[in-house]
Amino acid sequence: MQFKDIIGQEDLKRHLVRSIDQGRISHAQLFTGAAGQGSLAMAVAYFQYLCCRHRHNGDSCGECPDCRQIASLAHPDLHLVFPVNKQGKKSGEAMLSDEFLPIFRTLYEECGGYCSPQVWYERLDLGKTLKGMISAREADEIIRKLSFKSFEADYKAMLIWLPETMNEEAANKILKILEEPWEKTLFLLVSEQPTRLLPTILSRTQEVSVGRIEKEVLADVAMREGVTDPMQARNMARLSDGNLLELRHLIAGESSQQRKENFDLFCALMRLSYNDKHLELITWAEEVAALSREQQRSLLRDAARLLRESFMLHAGLGEISYLWGEELAFCAKFAPFVGIENIEPLIAQIETAQAQINQNGNSTIVFTHFALAVSKMIKHL
Ligand SMILES: [Zn+2]
Repeated sequence: MQFKDIIGQEDLKRHLVRSIDQGRISHAQLFTGAAGQGSLAMAVAYFQYLCCRHRHNGDSCGECPDCRQIASLAHPDLHLVFPVNKQGKKSGEAMLSDEFLPIFRTLYEECGGYCSPQVWYERLDLGKTLKGMISAREADEIIRKLSFKSFEADYKAMLIWLPETMNEEAANKILKILEEPWEKTLFLLVSEQPTRLLPTILSRTQEVSVGRIEKEVLADVAMREGVTDPMQARNMARLSDGNLLELRHLIAGESSQQRKENFDLFCALMRLSYNDKHLELITWAEEVAALSREQQRSLLRDAARLLRESFMLHAGLGEISYLWGEELAFCAKFAPFVGIENIEPLIAQIETAQAQINQNGNSTIVFTHFALAVSKMIKHL
C-alpha cells in the first residue's frame, strides 16, 4: 500500500511522511477513522514507507521486497491481529488471528485496503449473533511474537485492527507492553470506535486521525467508477459523508436499480410490440419521455445491449453472451423474435433515438416514433 493508492487525505500523508523523514516515530500510534476513510490502508502505507529502502517523492517505492511483502500483508516483521470468531467453536477454544490470516489477506486485497468490519464478519460467516473479538490468548501471542528479533526490516510492527474488540483482560495484557516498549517495535492500532478503548490505552498512544475524504476527491472517484453525470457524482460525494465505502454503495445501488428499471421498460416494450398494443405503446413512450435525459440515454444503451444479446442467443452463441438472472430468462424466451432480418434495423432505430435525444429532440415524439417502429420490426420477423 503506497500513499498514492490512498484516496485523498493529502495533508495527513504529508504529515506522516515528514514525521518519518525527521525520525519522529512514536512507538504506539492509534489510527482513528471509519474503514471507508482509509484508516487501515493509512496504517499499512505508513509502515511500508518506514521500511522501504528506496523511498522517493514522499512515498514508498512499491517495488522493493519490503514494499511488496508489506503490501500483501506478508512481511515477517508485520504482525497482524484482528477480531475473529467461528461458528460452532468448542467452549474454551481460543481463536487466533493467524488461523484466519489467509482469508484476511484475500479480503484486504479485494477491498484495496478499505475493508469494513461488517464485510469482514460476513466473510467469517459469523451469522447474526456471534461477534468477532480479540481474545486474551491473542494478547499473550502478541507478546510472544514481539519478543523475537526482527527478520528483515529494522522495525517491526504489531498492527491491531479494531482494538475495541479486545475484552478487558486482553487490553490489560497489551497495556504493559505499550507502557514499556521494546526498541524498534511499533504498535499501530487502527480503531473505528476509539471511545470504546480503555482510557489507559488511549493515554499511551498517539492519535493519528484519519478524517473524512474531501468531497471533490470523492466526486472524481464517482466519475472514474462509472457515474457519468457530474452533478450526480457531486451529490453522491456529498451523501457519502467523506467515506469511500459509502460512496461505492451509492454507486452500486444506483446502477443496479437503474439497470432493473431499464430492464422492466425493455420487457414492457417488447411484450407490447409483440402483441401489437398500440395504445399501450404510446403510454409507454409517455412514461419514458418523463424520465431524465440521462435515464433515457441509459435505457437506450441497455436496450441495444439486450437486443444484441438476444440475437446472440438466437444465433446459438449463448456461451458468449453476458446475461444472467432475469435478463437471461427473458432474453432466452424472446430470442426467437430477434434474428438476422431485424437486428440491424432495430439497432438503427436505437441509434436514431439516441442521436435525437442528444440533440434535445422532443422526447414524447422521439419515443412514440421509436416504440411504434420497434413494434413493427418485432412483429414482422
Ligand atoms: Zn520500497
